[in-house]
Amino acid sequence: MMIINPFYLLIILSLTLHGDSINGGFTEDHANHEKEKYNKKYNDPWSTYKLLIEDAVKNYKPCHVEDCYLLQRRSDFRYWVNNGGIKESDFLHARDYKLGTHYQIINHTLYRQEKCTFPARCEGNEYFISKLLSQLPDMEFIVNTFDWSKVPKHGRNSPVFSFSKSNTDRDILYPAWTFWKGGPAITTYPTGIGRWDLHIEKLNKAEKEFPWEKKEDIGFFRGSRTSSERDPLILLSRELPSLIDAAYTKNQAWRSEKDTLNQPPAIEVSFEEHCKYKYLFNFRGVAASFRYKHLFLCKSLVFHVGDDWVEFFYGAMEPWVHFIPVSTNLADARDLLDFVKENDDIAQEIAERGYLFIKEHLRMADIQSYWLKILKRYSNLMKWAPKMNETLNRIG
Ligand code: UDP
Repeated sequence: MMIINPFYLLIILSLTLHGDSINGGFTEDHANHEKEKYNKKYNDPWSTYKLLIEDAVKNYKPCHVEDCYLLQRRSDFRYWVNNGGIKESDFLHARDYKLGTHYQIINHTLYRQEKCTFPARCEGNEYFISKLLSQLPDMEFIVNTFDWSKVPKHGRNSPVFSFSKSNTDRDILYPAWTFWKGGPAITTYPTGIGRWDLHIEKLNKAEKEFPWEKKEDIGFFRGSRTSSERDPLILLSRELPSLIDAAYTKNQAWRSEKDTLNQPPAIEVSFEEHCKYKYLFNFRGVAASFRYKHLFLCKSLVFHVGDDWVEFFYGAMEPWVHFIPVSTNLADARDLLDFVKENDDIAQEIAERGYLFIKEHLRMADIQSYWLKILKRYSNLMKWAPKMNETLNRIG
């Protein structure tokens, strides 16, 4: 089959439509104009990405503070809304199979089972729950503080709150404990990366110290090998160090250089130091990585790899509008880096939108408000009246 170059088709079409041109009115200017149009539409090596961005931005409806995360909550509670509420037997299943920590709120006081596997994580969650007690009725619930989710789609629908889940899980998402306390302890954050409010302040300063024009035109990643999905980026960096600086750091599971892909572990860097670079990579680890939200506050462009593991706020952010989506196997990473390097204005605009979203919609007040909404929704769906469990301890 003969394939006709679309540019020549355009010229022919143009000549046909403009009969006057054939009679001498067809000018070089006109041809150039058509060519320019064609180049713009078909011949620009980056037109695919540009069109994706144009479309995404055109279709994006900025959310209002009150309803940014409504769709996530609807989706998380849909099963119980459609099935007559949360049954006590399902709650008891979650409690007795130890899918998380058991809490009760009775008469506006918070009680918790004695054993909390990760005390800092429980403390991080209780910081938010404790502030809401005057607004909440008697209720009881299970909070999972492990990294991974507990309610696979095809298992029993246990009502369990988890901080992260894969797209197929049925856990009810809650804002992670690290917004206040806990999180991975690394040399730069020896007691855990928590205190989102303080990170916001520090990153605000760092972002001003490293505005877009001063940032290095290079991709950047530091983190441990919590998932081998990160390997291709580390290998790409070893092959093309001027395009991307990505290296593995140690974590508690590190035993030998095998765990850092046969090289010595890199020195850990603070979130503020990430702001020196234009393009910052985010990956899932065991579950969603806590790094994600911090990266946006640098006003750098976030390259988000894969779309499976989420936290409660992920769904409100749009690929191409707020971040660059990268396929899980990183096959497109190099191409996407070339694209943003050659289209600096577009890259900066996406970085700016991502920054604004997090700055405006992921404030401590938004975290507090999300906790209130999920606990109220849960209590409205509860089909039993909780009785004081004497084995639980009063918190606060
Ligand atoms: N981290 C950091 N600087 C480093 C390495 C890690 O700030 O040099 C942060 C990282 O952003 C994440 C946390 O420490 O929030 C744990 O990172 P890791 O890669 O070990 O695990 P992840 O949670 O991403 O799977």
